[in-house]
Amino acid sequence: MGRIRQHQTQDEALLFERSSPGKIGYQLPRMDVPETDPLEALGAKLVRNDVAGFPEVSEVEVIRHFTRLSTWNYAIDLGLYPLGSCTMKYNPRLNEAVARIEGIIDAHPYQPECLAQGLLRIQRTLEMYLADITGMDAVTLQPAAGAHGELTGLLLIRAYLESRGNARRTVLIPDSAHGTNPATAAIAGYEVREITSNRRGMIDVEAMRAMVDGSVAALMVTNPNTVGIFEQDIAQVAGLLHEHGAQLYMDGANMNALVGVARPGEFGVDVMHLNLHKTFSTPHGGGGPGAGPVAVRRHLEPFLPVPRIQSTSEGLRFDSNRPSSIGRVRAFYGNFGVLVRALAYILAHGGDGLRNATVDAVLNANYVRKGLEGHFDLPYDAPSMHECIFSDALQAKHGVKTGEIAKRLIDYGFHPYTVSFPLIVRGALMIEPTETESKRELDEFVEAMQAIASEVKADRDLVRKAPVTTRTSRVDETRAARRPTVIWNDDGRN
Ligand SMILES: *Cc1c(COP(=O)(O)O)cnc(C)c1O
Repeated sequence: MGRIRQHQTQDEALLFERSSPGKIGYQLPRMDVPETDPLEALGAKLVRNDVAGFPEVSEVEVIRHFTRLSTWNYAIDLGLYPLGSCTMKYNPRLNEAVARIEGIIDAHPYQPECLAQGLLRIQRTLEMYLADITGMDAVTLQPAAGAHGELTGLLLIRAYLESRGNARRTVLIPDSAHGTNPATAAIAGYEVREITSNRRGMIDVEAMRAMVDGSVAALMVTNPNTVGIFEQDIAQVAGLLHEHGAQLYMDGANMNALVGVARPGEFGVDVMHLNLHKTFSTPHGGGGPGAGPVAVRRHLEPFLPVPRIQSTSEGLRFDSNRPSSIGRVRAFYGNFGVLVRALAYILAHGGDGLRNATVDAVLNANYVRKGLEGHFDLPYDAPSMHECIFSDALQAKHGVKTGEIAKRLIDYGFHPYTVSFPLIVRGALMIEPTETESKRELDEFVEAMQAIASEVKADRDLVRKAPVTTRTSRVDETRAARRPTVIWNDDGRN
């Protein structure tokens, strides 16, 4: 009688361990050209004798191996992914289909303008919608990510201030800003000064008033900020900056809390970026491509990256003759497939649909907040926007920290929330349910979190051992990054 095989997905060998000499995973057609010795054709320098430990496996073994591994991942297609500050929402498959339409997927960046009119129209139309959604005057689609958009925005501010004679020295940043904001300001050559938040989790306008003078180039504000709260004094903040000739930069990565409800151009923002891969339907994570378009008011338009798309009597064309431009920030036209998905999403939803997504995202975050109030400590008791932030203060008394609560959540079948961020909340639990989750899914999540809160009181060791239902439990979280072991021995094992 054969051995009962442990379910293979539980114990997947490395491909190298499955290797068996002589197996191959492909078939090539018979050669229809004379065979040549690679050594002769290419020279010894370019030809490898051997790839050490290269696995020899069949096609179906490769397919099964990677398919099994893929089932080890948690994914948005499996359940709630409540990572705050990330917007891990479900993105309609329709947009994927649109991005793969022949003519779009096969387009080449060197295609002449006369053969790319449809593609230019896509960019132009998206720019127009994004300008409308943000209440701004002009948009560049070039930046490839949120942080890249921030840098582009600050370079625009620098160019604008330089054109007026003085680039200035400092950028003010609230302590509730996303971490990329101070990094961006420093890379753009500015000194960062921090503004503390008030007890409501918003910019302290009085503290700020004392800091604004002629040396300030701009204030960078994440809005809604990283504690999930809308900066209610934003118009006043803008007025104060403008009085001193400074600019207001808004980090609009969390625009999914505002689309269709509030337009930054109307509350005094001069320049902002959007994260298409958060708000406008591009799946992200794992370092996949994104897009961080930048929207500006009229006075910053001359400085936008080239080329700009121009409408002429012969159709759309690229205009690179813009002497004040900061130049290119990205090869070609940005991550085009991401732009297509965003436009498809906008058109499929329409104005009312986009607004509904916003309203649902905010409703869901507040629903989760209400469900967990009393079970977890709430550092700021203001209404949530798209995400809600708790601290582990109640559980820390029992010796359990936010990271451990998050690991226990894995046992309940959910991806963890964002742990220990934002930094201004000690032991933060940052939860962003997004608009795509149903009440039922949210109820299950809230119940799981409540159950964990009870476990912390009743049996904290259980929580501190978690996860207990996964293939591996606690791994050394820093060793893998600090001392990665990627050595192939001669026998192909690592
Ligand atoms: C995600 C995020 C960013 C960074 O965006 P990337 O595309 O990862 O560079 C910046 N600011 C805020 C508020 C964010 O949520």
